[in-house]
Amino acid sequence: MSVETQKETLGFQTEVKQLLHLMIHSLYSNKEIFLRELISNASDAVDKLRFEALAKPDLLEGGAELKIRVSFDKDAKTVTLEDNGIGMSREDAVTHLGTIAKSGTADFMKHLSGDQKKDSHLIGQFGVGFYSAFIVADKVDVFSRRAGLAASEGVHWSSKGEGEFEIATVEKADRGTRIVLHLKSGEDEFADGWRLRNIIKKYSDHIALPIELPKEVAAVEGEDKPAVEWETVNRASALWTRPRTEIKDEEYQEFYKHVAHDFENPLSWSHNKVEGKLEYTSLLYVPTRAPFDLYQREASKGLKLYVQRVFVMDQAESFLPLYLRFIKGVVDSNDLSLNVSREILQKDPIIDSMKSALTKRVLDMLEKLAKNEPEQYKGFWKNFGQVMKEGPAEDFANKEKIAGLLRFASTQGDDGEQVVGLADYLARAKEGQDKIYYLTGETYAQVKNSPHLEVFRKKGIEVLLLTDRIDEWLMSYLTDFDGKSFVDVARGDLDLGNLDSEEDKKAAEEVAKSKEGLVERLKTALGDSVAEVRVSHRLTDSPAILAIGEQDLGLQMRQILEASGQKVPDSKPIFEFNPAHPLIEKLDNEQSDERFGDLSHILFDQAALAAGDSLKDPAAYVRRLNKLLVELSV
Ligand code: ADP
Ligand code: MG
Repeated sequence: MSVETQKETLGFQTEVKQLLHLMIHSLYSNKEIFLRELISNASDAVDKLRFEALAKPDLLEGGAELKIRVSFDKDAKTVTLEDNGIGMSREDAVTHLGTIAKSGTADFMKHLSGDQKKDSHLIGQFGVGFYSAFIVADKVDVFSRRAGLAASEGVHWSSKGEGEFEIATVEKADRGTRIVLHLKSGEDEFADGWRLRNIIKKYSDHIALPIELPKEVAAVEGEDKPAVEWETVNRASALWTRPRTEIKDEEYQEFYKHVAHDFENPLSWSHNKVEGKLEYTSLLYVPTRAPFDLYQREASKGLKLYVQRVFVMDQAESFLPLYLRFIKGVVDSNDLSLNVSREILQKDPIIDSMKSALTKRVLDMLEKLAKNEPEQYKGFWKNFGQVMKEGPAEDFANKEKIAGLLRFASTQGDDGEQVVGLADYLARAKEGQDKIYYLTGETYAQVKNSPHLEVFRKKGIEVLLLTDRIDEWLMSYLTDFDGKSFVDVARGDLDLGNLDSEEDKKAAEEVAKSKEGLVERLKTALGDSVAEVRVSHRLTDSPAILAIGEQDLGLQMRQILEASGQKVPDSKPIFEFNPAHPLIEKLDNEQSDERFGDLSHILFDQAALAAGDSLKDPAAYVRRLNKLLVELSV
């Protein structure tokens, strides 16, 4: 072995230590995936070299065929992987193999429960990668040299996967990376040609470059050991270039894990070749689970971009809108230039038309999933529903399509699960119903019992219950679906249109007339607190309710704006009362103006509480209520 210089021992980052520990203990039932992960990295490294060499052909250093070699030594109990890709410098090795360069790792660690079964799912979500080597090895040696650096600038990284790793500068003649796994005792089954071949066929057949194993050549007695002959064991062609009909589901699934750096199978995919004015192939995947960093700004998003089969960039964001940032996959274009940059992508009109076509593909794929696999779609919605709700605001052109994919809780369910689509809602709407009714609020428990729903319950009309933080904002972009407009049941002067019979309407008018005196008295008593007082059509059981003015901000939007430090215009609610309620009758008959005032303020405050709002003067409420209680008990 060559001389090692500048030898150092460095500690892993705390998170790496935790991750390593967890991985080793939770992935024991699926050990063989270590090979898939290391091959996936080697393939990425070759992609990167191929791309960088476009501008700097010298990097190819004479241009040997790009490939991955896997070998083993039964006696030494080692498995070795070697690639001639981009390689790593000393700094690269320290950062990439000693620190998790993924934002949000600390957050991720907080989610770990200590329960290994649960955590092993989480680890899948995080991606296992290089450290999976330690599932089978108790020592890992990495020898690498970055393409373009001198042979003397190789690096040797070595670790037992415990708390630290060693790093030294070594001589390395060939560019690229060699990883030597010293198998744990009991894991020597992996130092075997057949075993390795099967694992490669199973997980890495889709890798576009040759993966070679030594050919088993029988030694002839009395002769020297024959020179190693190598043989390619995978198919070695880019998966997306093959015809759809020839690709097995398992191949699509393994390819997904490679491009998405995911551990689990995807939920669905769509593979298309477009010919004509624009020529490109796309292979788009919907993941099963949301990545842990879905809501982080710096989170990885976008597709892997190839130009005529040469890898050009990871996370090309310009091909899909932000609300589809969870989609993973590959685009391979024949029309772009190989030296295309992110900046060019942002401006290129070709990209715009690809973006709208790809967006449509994704939405179609989701529609199909919703239609054919409703249970899976439920899972999809749980993971990605919140992000999909950003859609109508971002993507005006596809608003109707996106709206069709949204799912809500409703008064028809009883557990608050978001499972009702707008098409389902309309399909079972009451005869004559030409509106889509909804109510927003902070929690399901709160809206489920809202007095605003009383009349809807009585008439058997379904109301969508929207309690995600983003919902009120979403509804400001959704005005209609399938020609039917949305109506916030807590807003304005509720008009049930055809759902109220002529007699109902007439009777309501008469009641309103007979209560004009009470309305005036209430207006005087409540004064500045209200914008208006009127007889309600909304109530059957509660005495009073607060409605929001047609143009006013709802409670949720108000809270969001206030939380972000913005000044929110003060809007006053509309006080509606239920003339048939005994408390209102009592109020109507109240002779004392002081009592009338107290009672109406109590009703007002109670209505605010029922809507989930906080009281402006809680002490006054308590004082008034106690006064009444005292009077009651004497
Ligand atoms: P990921 O592949 O998701 O980035 P990994 O843990 O698998 O995460 O790998 C970490 C990093 O280590 C890679 O991003 C890469 O920078 C570096 N790396 C790993 N293997 C190789 C290799 N064979 N050649 C060059 N770099 C590598
Ligand atoms: Mg990897």
